[in-house]
Amino acid sequence: VNHVWRLALAWLLLALPGCAEPDAPGPGGRSGPRRHEPATPVPAEPGATVEKSNDNVVLVIIDTLRADKLGCYGFDLDTSPELDCLAEHGVRFERVISQCSWTRPSIGSMLTGLHPRTLGLYRGRDETLDRRFDTLAELLRESGYATIGIAANPQIAGRIGFDQGFDVYVDSPRDLPVRARPATVREQWRRAGASHLRSPFSSLPSAEVFDSALELAGRVSDAPVFLMINVMEVHEKGPAVRPEFAGKYAAHPDRRYLRAIRQISFDLGRFLDRLLALPGFEQTLVVIAADHGQGLRDHPGIKYGERHGYLLYESQVRVPLILFHTAGAIEPGVVPTPVRDMDIAPTVLDFLDLDVPAAFAGRSLLGLLDDPAADVGLPPRFVTETYRPDAAKIAVYAAAWKYIENRDDWPLLDEQELQAMGQREVGPFTDRIDLESEVASDLDQYLAGWERAHPKADPVYRDRGLSSDLRQRLSNLGYMDDAGPADQLPGAP
Ligand SMILES: [Zn+2]
Repeated sequence: VNHVWRLALAWLLLALPGCAEPDAPGPGGRSGPRRHEPATPVPAEPGATVEKSNDNVVLVIIDTLRADKLGCYGFDLDTSPELDCLAEHGVRFERVISQCSWTRPSIGSMLTGLHPRTLGLYRGRDETLDRRFDTLAELLRESGYATIGIAANPQIAGRIGFDQGFDVYVDSPRDLPVRARPATVREQWRRAGASHLRSPFSSLPSAEVFDSALELAGRVSDAPVFLMINVMEVHEKGPAVRPEFAGKYAAHPDRRYLRAIRQISFDLGRFLDRLLALPGFEQTLVVIAADHGQGLRDHPGIKYGERHGYLLYESQVRVPLILFHTAGAIEPGVVPTPVRDMDIAPTVLDFLDLDVPAAFAGRSLLGLLDDPAADVGLPPRFVTETYRPDAAKIAVYAAAWKYIENRDDWPLLDEQELQAMGQREVGPFTDRIDLESEVASDLDQYLAGWERAHPKADPVYRDRGLSSDLRQRLSNLGYMDDAGPADQLPGAP
């Protein structure tokens, strides 16, 4: 009976109404990718049930994913049917702000419920996530969880502190020289029939990330599992996507970014089908999140406008957030209340009936699932900030406006900007600060008070900085001081 039930669960996502969507046939008459592949459960013992003390948690951080390029957030192309399905049968938060527009501070904040500046992550150099902070993984491990992290982005490598709390932490491989990776990845996709590959990929490819996740999770039968996954294809604009997706969105100027989303959505759906078929995963909370967005073509003329990490416009900090429970413990819905990435960790703990540390600045969002107007302790406005060797910006997001202070003396950008929410910001061309000076002054005062209440902690450097191969991989991704643009990896246009 249990075996049948497990198989039925494996088909849950597929069977839900409105979620199955066959893809167009791929090149050469091959049939396209199918979400309907039979799942391959790996039973611990035939017919055995697996009892766990609490629900499993799967946190998927899709690097560089903008909310507004997903169907469930209103995008008009079919980039995300699998994610849309999860959103339809789970809770989707409509307005989510990340606490920084690049990876390390943003994910540090997401995992600790603290602002990046409280963590000392605000310089954009070699600082680490210090061990003195409690991470979600540590708190779950203390509560009996088996904790597994698989991180494609070297910005959250174990050696800079992001492995804390994980029993197993797999990061972008350190054993292979950087230049050996592309061939490995290309070979993988060639076997899958791809012939269009051009660009190397210096992070763990999603196929490896998801396979490793499945394999490691499948080994745990005696404890609830916390599985954190970070994938990089969207960040790198899909240098290697399945051949079935290689020709999609050909007329769209952001086609490479969109194909990468399509790829990851497909991979994720397939991964969840298989994971949820494993014994012991019947009760699982799935959290889909992103660490920041990408400028793309929204800010013409603004320095580094197409990238992320340098600006605080909505393209860069407005991200998706979806919660889904496999056994229906979360009622489907949409939460319009603005929330933050740093609220994810307390929300997960609260959902599992575990204590949320008093030191957390993030708040549990569970109260909003029943009543979007509930007071769950969120501040009236959200602050997000970014610091890079040549960037220093801080912004306050309010209901109708965002107020930005550019403290980096860039060309074109004024020291202060007031931009309307929901529009493409183009520096002074969309700035309304002269027309709405009272709004700006109010937000400026809020920011001053907030900064007094949130002093910057000293950054912590460990292990004499970064090793040379990690430095090289960060450099390839455009993160080091002397590196090229983050979105112009080798092979990119
Ligand atoms: Zn990132």
